[in-house]
Amino acid sequence: MGKVYLIGAGPGAADLITLRGANILKRADVVFYDALVHPDALALAPNARLVAVGKRCSQISTDQRFINRNLVEAAARHKVVVRLKGGDPMLFGRAQEEIDALAAAGIAYEIVPGVTSALAASAEIGVSLTRRGVSRSVTFATPRVGDGEDVSDWAPAVANADTAALYMASGQAAQIARILEAEGMPAFTPVVLVENASLPNSRQIGTTLRGLQDGLPDRIDGPALLFFGDVYRERVHALITDRLMREQDDPFMPPVEWVATL
Ligand code: SAH
Repeated sequence: MGKVYLIGAGPGAADLITLRGANILKRADVVFYDALVHPDALALAPNARLVAVGKRCSQISTDQRFINRNLVEAAARHKVVVRLKGGDPMLFGRAQEEIDALAAAGIAYEIVPGVTSALAASAEIGVSLTRRGVSRSVTFATPRVGDGEDVSDWAPAVANADTAALYMASGQAAQIARILEAEGMPAFTPVVLVENASLPNSRQIGTTLRGLQDGLPDRIDGPALLFFGDVYRERVHALITDRLMREQDDPFMPPVEWVATL
């Protein structure tokens, strides 16, 4: 019987994996990896059979039960089985289903943490999630629910957080902003979207809760996070000013009052 390692690959850039994760990958016989795992991270497992079990929203994804069964079966045939997940496995990573399946089958497993994308994105924004005097709490949330799950009450938690990071949300950004304002979040709450955090094509967009209700100015194809909170006031001001200077004929001309209220 082999052992299954649930490893956090980090948010994108392959060198953000932990040393522990990289060392286990060196010994891996088989690696089941997510769509968000960077190809360079897979190169860390030179001897492994690589199996894509990718999930990217709105695209075909492997059924979770199928992944669970694969992990259990692989452990019967291989010594080192790796389940490589984007970011950290324990945050919006469906780790629990896999842990439960492994435990039920009596298979040894270990979890290796990773840098979650909200932390990599914060490094890029350059603003502390818990800036002293402004924020003493951070909420990690997602509006997304799986098939057959109840709609969770995500909105009050986000509306009341000092700082909030919203995962899997950029596709419904306008609707989310309307829900949050109805929930009592101030209309001029600063919002930063970070796409492709830690990767060379990373991008940031600054707006406000009210501005977000008109939708995003650019198409977002990569994975993205939405951040809300007063800690971002100066950063959003700078991002909007930048945009105004750069793109005079931008069809998405942020209303001047946004800047004024920031
Ligand atoms: N376990 C992962 C999250 C998986 S859910 C983690 O800890 O980061 C997938 C969501 O993560 C995406 O919809 C997006 O919101 C976010 N995400 C993942 N990688 C990202 C990146 N490089 N930049 C911005 N957001 C990212």
